[in-house]
Amino acid sequence: MSRFFSEKLFSLEPYTPGEQPRDMVYIKLNTNESPYSPSPKALAVIEGEASKLNLYSDPTARFLHEAIADHYGVTADRVIATNGSDEALAFAFDAFASGKSLAFPDVTYGFYPVFANLFGIPYTTVPLDDTFTIRVEDYANIDSTVVIANPNAQTGTYLPLSKIEELVAQNRDRVVIVDEAYIDFGGETAIPLTDRYDNLLVVQTFSKSRNLAGARIGFAVGCADLIADLNRVKYSFNPYNVNRISMAAAVEAMKDEAYFAECTKKVVETRGYTAAALAKLGFTYPASMANFILAHTDKIDGKELYQKLKSKGVLVRHLSDARIADSIRITIGTREQMETLIRKIQEILEDLT
Ligand code: PMP
Repeated sequence: MSRFFSEKLFSLEPYTPGEQPRDMVYIKLNTNESPYSPSPKALAVIEGEASKLNLYSDPTARFLHEAIADHYGVTADRVIATNGSDEALAFAFDAFASGKSLAFPDVTYGFYPVFANLFGIPYTTVPLDDTFTIRVEDYANIDSTVVIANPNAQTGTYLPLSKIEELVAQNRDRVVIVDEAYIDFGGETAIPLTDRYDNLLVVQTFSKSRNLAGARIGFAVGCADLIADLNRVKYSFNPYNVNRISMAAAVEAMKDEAYFAECTKKVVETRGYTAAALAKLGFTYPASMANFILAHTDKIDGKELYQKLKSKGVLVRHLSDARIADSIRITIGTREQMETLIRKIQEILEDLT
């Protein structure tokens, strides 16, 4: 820390992204990326767009907003595209919780407390139940802005739309941010509820189900007023927040429904295979509707299993949050990658005996 660093930020604990090691080639199952390449239609526009990089990107992101709006049956003024959904979350935290307070689950996406601290927003955490599921009733008397991930980060647990509506309807004077980073792997989006609830903001990403993590594209959908508020923050921070190449690729990825359906179907099928294979090896896990599984076994500690898998060339995520430190979080890769993972786990367990 330099002597110039703002005192206000001394205690900031930054977010720790999943490791991206370069020492060898790993089967990478640690950051919930898609194992499949971007849509060929997205790839096809990249070169043409690159030749225009001397020009700024469209600050109104018109074509991307229209593509997202068309897909979800809303008007384009109810959409804002961002530089990854992390940026949508940052804008939303700043717009709807700065000077107020936040509430979110005790086990969830690790960036929520980081953004809260960055913006000086006090927060409370609400424990998940014993099955690692969000109990909507626990939020009934909370006046703070609420943020939840559905499916939940780290656990993969999912709330049906009726529960999301209950959460949003509990208190119409508080904004509820629903982070749907993992919604496309079997869940039902809450975007249609934004037609009726002016206190609901839904955040999504192109990083998982649309195979564009490296392009950094996210978006939020809400009523036009909520989106206008987010635009006020965006135009006070970085008007050209989405770069030209990523924007063009994202438009094509959103329109390529067939490729999206094919990739997400494969992930869901492979999740089923992986869950069954892990159960056979004695693992337990919360039922996941995401592209990862949080798996636990009494036979070996989560951190040790993570380390042993890494030494065998398979990278999974070990998270140190107390309630899940005994587990590993495994991203769903290709069927072949998951077969290798299962084989390596089997070897590790056999070596223990
Ligand atoms: N929300 C959740 C729940 C996530 O797990 C992630 C990815 N780690 C994000 C948001 C951010 O994704 P991105 O910025 O790549 O859109």
